[in-house]
Amino acid sequence: MDSPVQRSDPIVILGAGVFGLSTALHLCQRGFTDVTILDKQNYDESKYSYLEGCDAPSADMNKIIRAAYGPETVYQDLSFEAMDLWRSYNDYISAGRDLPPGLSQKDEIWVNNGNLQICAQIDLPYFERMSIENMRKAGKRDTQVVVTEKHDVNRAEKAGFGFAVDPFSRWQKNKPYQALLDTSGGFVYADKACRLVLHLARRAGVKVVLGPEAEFSGYREDPRGNITGLETVGAKTYPARLVVVACGGWTQQIVPGMDHLCETTGGSVAVVKIPKTHALYERFSPHNFPTWTYKMRDGDDGGLYGFPVDENGYFKIGYRGTKYINPQNLGDEKERSVPVTRWSKPDSITRIPSHALDRIRGFLEEFVPELGETGLDITFTRLCWYNDSFDNHFVIDHVPHKKGLMVATGGSGHAFMFLPNIGKYVVDKIEGKSGGPLDYWKWRNLEPSKKPVNVLGEGRQSERALQNQRLYQDDELVLGGTSGLGKRARL
Ligand SMILES: Cc1cc2nc3c(=O)[nH]c(=O)nc-3n(C[C@H](O)[C@H](O)[C@H](O)COP(=O)(O)OP(=O)(O)OC[C@H]3O[C@@H](n4cnc5c(N)ncnc54)[C@H](O)[C@@H]3O)c2cc1C
Repeated sequence: MDSPVQRSDPIVILGAGVFGLSTALHLCQRGFTDVTILDKQNYDESKYSYLEGCDAPSADMNKIIRAAYGPETVYQDLSFEAMDLWRSYNDYISAGRDLPPGLSQKDEIWVNNGNLQICAQIDLPYFERMSIENMRKAGKRDTQVVVTEKHDVNRAEKAGFGFAVDPFSRWQKNKPYQALLDTSGGFVYADKACRLVLHLARRAGVKVVLGPEAEFSGYREDPRGNITGLETVGAKTYPARLVVVACGGWTQQIVPGMDHLCETTGGSVAVVKIPKTHALYERFSPHNFPTWTYKMRDGDDGGLYGFPVDENGYFKIGYRGTKYINPQNLGDEKERSVPVTRWSKPDSITRIPSHALDRIRGFLEEFVPELGETGLDITFTRLCWYNDSFDNHFVIDHVPHKKGLMVATGGSGHAFMFLPNIGKYVVDKIEGKSGGPLDYWKWRNLEPSKKPVNVLGEGRQSERALQNQRLYQDDELVLGGTSGLGKRARL
């Protein structure tokens, strides 16, 4: 039997996104003394800001935080645990001591402005009904507001969430409307959150190596094939008792044998810049406007979500009703989807499939026609790469038959909210613990009798392959026409 990893053993984490950062911080907090994190992107320069030139899902403007998780109470509990820590991050910042560059005492990274889940029908769908039920069981029924229930709405108003009940003025416009508001939810400023956790990790003793020189170039192995470290493009060797690969959508390229478990898929994002002087800026500010989702489990026709404006006036909308793939042959004879990023293909930096843009524009024209009516158009777009597991659960485990190698990945579109606490579970795994959420996050195979939540490996013939999608033309960024959902909306 191999001895467990000791707290003095060197541990190298590859990837400084949500999983890597959180793991690094929790390792040091647990008493590990030789922890190094590497990333090929220089986040000290870009500060995790997509607008400053980096590109990873963790490097973003904002991300939804929610505890309403339908039947999935594992994540509901995890989310409440994370929210306590998000609050402690806000407290840390407001104390104003020892802040990283790019953060000031006035910054609030976690904003509890509510998460509104807009539904396609008046009868609440299963997921929303289960959220109410499971929040009730957790003693949090008060946080769930059915917008058509007077009693619930009164309660939301008393709690200061009146603004979040009908933020698109559907009733005023005589449009049918149903939604469940989760007043425990909201969003975090993602770039600032990563910046803070990187800083806390450094303070806790993590060695940080960022930039192109830190790009992975190969493993170090002993004669039995066990991993004993890794090498980087900068010709440096990092010996390690354990290597944890946390490279998001790039993980499958680095960890062999994972393609049955995870695939990277592109989510589409569009941003409308609303100048601070514009009347809509105040209306869509976080104190007047919630985070929202629209028909999240309704396939291609739904899967929209969005945020209030940020301090630069960026009003962000995402579409994940169809997630795209980019199957490529990268030389190891295996075709797999790989992220298209601004650095791997500069021309693609802002282009999303026309189909996705049509869905986003359609939503905006139906729900926020005021944008087009006041001369605002979509300012830029982005493809942002998920690493989806077949069942939407994360993957935190040792790699079978590769001693010394672990993965922490499979965010499947919902890992950002766990930045403060996911690392705790990675460290539990490293320390040989099991049970609880770790049982969901094992290295696993799809049981033949089960249907995957996400179908993986469709390849180039798939309609979702970017090779088969038309990317939009600039004139499609104009709002105010008739397109997509605008014509089709049932609600
Ligand atoms: C469009 C979109 C919307 C989302 N919305 C939400 C949301 O609202 N709420 C939520 O909770 N979650 C959300 N998520 C999910 C969440 O953002 C991700 O699960 C999480 O950020 C993934 O973190 P990660 O550490 O796995 O990967 P990443 O953020 O991809 O980080 C991986 C890192 O590895 C580095 N790397 C890659 N290859 C190498 C290499 N060869 N050498 C060195 N370094 C390397 C990269 O530079 C990168 O920094 C969303 C995701 C997407 C795509």
